[in-house]
Amino acid sequence: MPDLITLLKARVKNDADTDYLGYKVCPKCESTDLNNNPFVDADYEAGDGGELVASPIIIPMVTCESCGWSKRIDEHDLLD
Ligand SMILES: [Zn+2]
Repeated sequence: MPDLITLLKARVKNDADTDYLGYKVCPKCESTDLNNNPFVDADYEAGDGGELVASPIIIPMVTCESCGWSKRIDEHDLLD
C-alpha cells in the first residue's frame, strides 16, 4: 500500500512546480512570454442577515502576452 504522506508531499511539490500550469510556451503562438496571473472569482453565500457575502476564489491562470491566449484551472480540477 502506498505511503499516503509520501503521496501528499509529491502532490504538493507537483503543484508548486506548475506555476505556469505546466506550460513553457504558448500552445497557440509558441511565445515564451507567458504571464502567471491568478484569476480572482467570487463565491457568494448568504450571511446571518440574509445578505450576500462574497468570498474570493483564486484560480491559477496563465496568459500569453503575445496573442492573448489564456488557460485557467476550473474549479472541478481544483477539487480533483
Ligand atoms: Zn500566444
